[in-house]
This record gives sequence, structure tokens and C-alpha cells, in this order.
Amino acid sequence: MKISDNEVGREAFELPSIGGLAGLTARTVFGAVTAPPAPSFALTCRDGLIGSWQSESERMVAPFLDVSGCTLLPGFIDVHIHGSAGGDVMDASFESLEKMSRFLVRHGVTGFYATTVTASRQATLAAVENAARYMEASRWGNDENGPAGARVLGIHLEGPFLSPEFPGAQNPAFIRPASLEEFEELLAAGPVRMITLAPEEPGADALIEMALGAGVRVVLGHTAATFEEATAAIDAGVSQATHTYNAMTGLHHRRPGALGATLGDDRIHAQLIADGIHVHPAAMRILGRCKGPTRTLLISDAIGAAGMPEGRYEMGRLPVIVRDGACRLEDGTLAGSVLTMDAALRNFMAAAGWPLVQAWPTTSLSQAQALGIDREVGRIRKGARADLTVLDGEAQVVATVVGGRLAYLRDSWRLRDGDG
Ligand SMILES: [Zn+2]
Repeated sequence: MKISDNEVGREAFELPSIGGLAGLTARTVFGAVTAPPAPSFALTCRDGLIGSWQSESERMVAPFLDVSGCTLLPGFIDVHIHGSAGGDVMDASFESLEKMSRFLVRHGVTGFYATTVTASRQATLAAVENAARYMEASRWGNDENGPAGARVLGIHLEGPFLSPEFPGAQNPAFIRPASLEEFEELLAAGPVRMITLAPEEPGADALIEMALGAGVRVVLGHTAATFEEATAAIDAGVSQATHTYNAMTGLHHRRPGALGATLGDDRIHAQLIADGIHVHPAAMRILGRCKGPTRTLLISDAIGAAGMPEGRYEMGRLPVIVRDGACRLEDGTLAGSVLTMDAALRNFMAAAGWPLVQAWPTTSLSQAQALGIDREVGRIRKGARADLTVLDGEAQVVATVVGGRLAYLRDSWRLRDGDG
């Protein structure tokens, strides 16, 4: 998308391809640390950062985005995503990450954690090294002068130190016992910020300790842990659960399992795939009631097939068939999703019965707090990065701003309100 071609607002102006927006107007805002001057207001941006509130009557300096009538939120963050738009993190190519960066802004995502799948040591290392180079090269959203897309915020390793009993769609051929030496090599290769592992597996204790010492968030998942084992892992510092309900021991009233530990303990954040396929809406509602808005992390767990026609794809070298919005291995096991974060939010709001005023943290603040980056993103705060998502009354994405630069603007909105 060539942003310099867009014309928006009451007065047509050319969006700069270099530099950022001077600000934007909106009707409602959630996630702001200080309240805007009611009833109408504008938010200024400067040097890619959030500036201050102005009353709308004050003259905004062009270029500004006029989305009055819409709702402004902190930009969405996806902490668990393998691919989209035909690109996959495991491709270990800039092109694949670019496809993701470009696609994700259409769905309100301003930052994501490039998530590996369980694969060979070489393939995992290649994916980590590539993501690290991509971040360093300041491509797509990381560069003030380059095109604006969703930023890669770090790397999330999903496996390979998982439970062979709960592989889900992770390739069981590559699941292996925890290895400090392999983990150290991955840490040295790039900014690994999260690792999903099974805490009950041999060697996991030492690996958890090493990860926490390196500032990596440890995430419980693909696990056969009992309630007691999962609770011990939380005591040891595990602070998040990967796709809660899926690929973990369930909640039985005498054996509460990893799920019981996740739902009942405030020390752990819960990721949720809110596509209505992985988890029943009633179970989403229960999760919301147990974890609350700031401990519920909506994720996509999307694979390269997201945003692509249905058909045959591949994940972790296993064939995946995408049909009727579900991704499955040949044996019927669910294999990631084609979910997007905006759809996840709408599905979760419907399932939980939460309005946006209550649900908004599940796509941004929860993630930022869980990852310890909430000074930089996840809140609309002066001096924070101007990563913003604009929604209409149906929680559909109207615009996405990354680092103060317009990365996406919906055509129908432009046609309705634009005069360009
Ligand atoms: Zn996954």
C-alpha cells in the first residue's frame, strides 16, 4: 500500500511517505492515562511518540487524521503468531516477515512477537536469526523512514521443549527434552522474549531459571502438568499460559490440571484463541470472568494461511488443511488459526458480554504488561510510542498508526468521509 497516495480528512492533503502524522481526532478513547478534553478532542503525535491532548477547536496542524466519530485505542499486540498472508516466521526470510507486517496493520496490529513452531535446531535458529536481523534492519515499522507496518517486538519460541503427550499441531518428531545449551544458543541469536514450554518435563526447572534470569517470559503450554506441577511452575516464575484450554490438562473437579492453575491464579496471564473454533464461547466467558480484562491476552495463533484463500498449507513441515475458517492436520487436530486480532476482539466481546470499554485491554495493555513493555506501548500516554488503532462502532478497524505514521486506512471509511 502506498500511503503517500491517500487523501483523508475534511480537507484533502497528501499523507507524507516520510515522517508522521501531526495528530488525530476521535470521539472516544480507551486506554488513555489522562482523560482528553471532552467532548471532542485531538491527540497530537511528535517524532513517532504520543504528544498531548488538544480540544478539537484548536487548530490541528496538517497532516492529521480525522476520525472523529471513531474510537481510539492503544495499538493491538499479538504475542503468539506464526504467520499470515502467505508468510511464515519459519521461512526465515525478510519477505515473509514483511508480508506479516503489512497484513497485520489491516487488522489493527501495531506490534507482534514472531513465534516459532517446534522444529529442528537449525530451522529454529535460522528463524530466530532472521527475525533478529529484520528488527535490526529496521524494516516495516521499525524504521522512521521506511514503510509503516506492524513492528516485530521480539521472538516467542513455541517449543521445542514441550510435552509429547500434548503436541497439538506441533510436530512431535521435533519435541525434545529441555536443553540449556540449545536455549543459550537461541538467546544469543536474537531477542527471544518468551518461551512456551512444558514445566513438568525433565530439565524444565533449570531452563525456567535460565530464561527468567535472561529476562525471558516463561509461558506454560503444550503441557501435561498436574495442577500441583503447574502451580509450582507459577511459584517458580512462569507468568503466562499459551492458548489456554488448548493442549493442556483440563479442569476436572478433583484434578484441576494446568487449566485450573491458570484460571485460578492471579499471577498468571492467560492467552486465548477467540475464534469460536478452538474454545467454546461459554469457555471464553469463563476465562474472562476468572482472569479479568488485564490478565486475558487475546492472541491469533495465526499461520501463513491467514488472509489467504482456503486450501492446503504447511506448518512445521506438517500438512494443514484450511476449511470453513478452521486449520487442521490430516487427523483433524486443530493447527493454528486464520484468526485476526480484530475478529478475536469482536468474538471475545460477544462471548464474554463485555463492551469495548471493558474489553479493550485484552488486545494491548494485557500484552504490554505481561511482557513488561507497558511504558513504551499498550497505553495512550504522553511520550509513549504512537502505536494506535482506530475502530468504528462495530469494532471494525478504520485506521492503524505505527510510530506516529499512518499504516492503514480503510477504503470505505475514506470514501464515506474523505473528499479526495
Ligand atoms: Zn502457536
